[in-house]
Amino acid sequence: MSLSKTSNFPAWCEKNGELGKKLSREYVDKDKPPTAVTKASHYKAKWKCSNVECKHVWRAKVNNRTRSHRPGGCPQCANNAPASKTNNFLVWCEKNGELGKKLSREYVDPDRLPTAVTKASRYKALWKCGRCSHEWHARLHHRTTSDKPSGCPECKMP
Ligand SMILES: [Zn+2]
Ligand SMILES: [Zn+2]
Repeated sequence: MSLSKTSNFPAWCEKNGELGKKLSREYVDKDKPPTAVTKASHYKAKWKCSNVECKHVWRAKVNNRTRSHRPGGCPQCANNAPASKTNNFLVWCEKNGELGKKLSREYVDPDRLPTAVTKASRYKALWKCGRCSHEWHARLHHRTTSDKPSGCPECKMP
């Protein structure tokens, strides 16, 4: 399928201000040049977050990112959304049974309150093992992930 110069993705970007600029910067797909897709494409393109502190690379349909109603953004940045009263690590702990109780006990970070981080934070917090009292730093999201959460490196307790 050949696309006309006026209907392809770069043409759409040019007409769509800040969002257009951002998306044309973030489009890093090697398999299909941006001129080979349209803003309505269902093609799952590769994107690279333009936030220099993030630079996360992920795949998303082009039309998911260009739609006018809540366009999809970087999933990593969404995870790093600032903590709020209803979305913070302590609230998460309260909802997560034994693991939550244990993590809220072991969180001993002196720099950030548990209410100032979220369970998805990449922040390296200080933890103190409830079993052997070893202290170590680990990212929040490594300890809270449902897929093999990380534990104390000393006594290897999960
Ligand atoms: Zn990002
Ligand atoms: Zn331990």
